[in-house]
Amino acid sequence: MPYSVPKLETYSAEELDKAVAELLNALQQESQSISDETTWTDFRNRWTARKNGILTQINDGWLKAAPGPQKREVGQRVNQVRQRVEAVVEETKESLSGAGSEKRLKAEAVDITLPGTQRQLGATHPITLVMDEIVSVFKAMGYSVAEGPEIETDYYNFEALNFPLNHPARDMQDTIFIAGQEKKQQRDRLLLRTHTSPVQIRYMEKHQPPVRVVIPGRVYRNDAPDATHSPMFHQIEGLAVDTNITFSDLKGTLDHAMKMLFGSRIKTKLRPSFFPFTEPSAEVLVTCPFCTKGCRVCKMSGWIELLGAGMVDPALYGYVGYDPAKVSGFAFGMGLDRLAAMKYGVDDIQLFFHGDVRFLRQFA
Ligand SMILES: [Zn+2]
Repeated sequence: MPYSVPKLETYSAEELDKAVAELLNALQQESQSISDETTWTDFRNRWTARKNGILTQINDGWLKAAPGPQKREVGQRVNQVRQRVEAVVEETKESLSGAGSEKRLKAEAVDITLPGTQRQLGATHPITLVMDEIVSVFKAMGYSVAEGPEIETDYYNFEALNFPLNHPARDMQDTIFIAGQEKKQQRDRLLLRTHTSPVQIRYMEKHQPPVRVVIPGRVYRNDAPDATHSPMFHQIEGLAVDTNITFSDLKGTLDHAMKMLFGSRIKTKLRPSFFPFTEPSAEVLVTCPFCTKGCRVCKMSGWIELLGAGMVDPALYGYVGYDPAKVSGFAFGMGLDRLAAMKYGVDDIQLFFHGDVRFLRQFA
């Protein structure tokens, strides 16, 4: 039987005591059946609703109906009941939201004893490893490192490096041109740089001699991919410009660098060559690091051709505002991909670019 407010007959202290006790007992019992927001709202409305809530009922049924002399006594009891009811409504609301947040905490709990998501550590790519190694050899000799854009203008990639328009040397580098450049002047047309050498010009434009710089980076040529070619590959080159730099400085620098890279038993030798931006030019060969009598890597010759080098053609100084009568310098460059392939015994440079983790993991 749900509680209903009784009518008072005598308004005596005993009758009031009994009625208030019954009411508070009912309040207590009903408050215990609150389990969620909905049952709490029902509870609150049943007891405190302005229209026909139990508090309203006792106000009308008990206080207003009380005879004059008892009004004061009844009023005090009704007030006490009101305060108690309001307090219980408030307490039950609080304990309800407390239970809710406890529930939420439980649902959102993280079990820190579960094994986590394992993320594998990255590692340096083998070509970057070789690049870093060479850079550190030259850094130890006092060289700085410079980089430049991979999308270049014809001016920096060819013209300022002494490749005049229609010069046959341009044909040695199967260039990948950017489309839609026909309206521009030849020197402003964009292409994917075919070598890191444009950075030599860019660097000299911004720095006065003495210059000691190595330039690693990605370059592009229209080569069909095969075991020893890739349309995208890597070079590192160096440039030293100062007063009184001679060809023997070039020889000594490269001989030292190759010994640092491959060991002190390595020997170097030079063979005449041609590059438009150096004069004289040379190919640099090193003794095979893998054998003493000839092997597959050196094709049984005992020597491996590793670098191109030469004295900076004085014509280049005119493009960057150096005085060719006062300065001289040398430059050298090498491909990193074949070097990495040679060093790690990889027989197909395409493997470097396939992104196959099983292959790359071997170098981690
Ligand atoms: Zn060999």
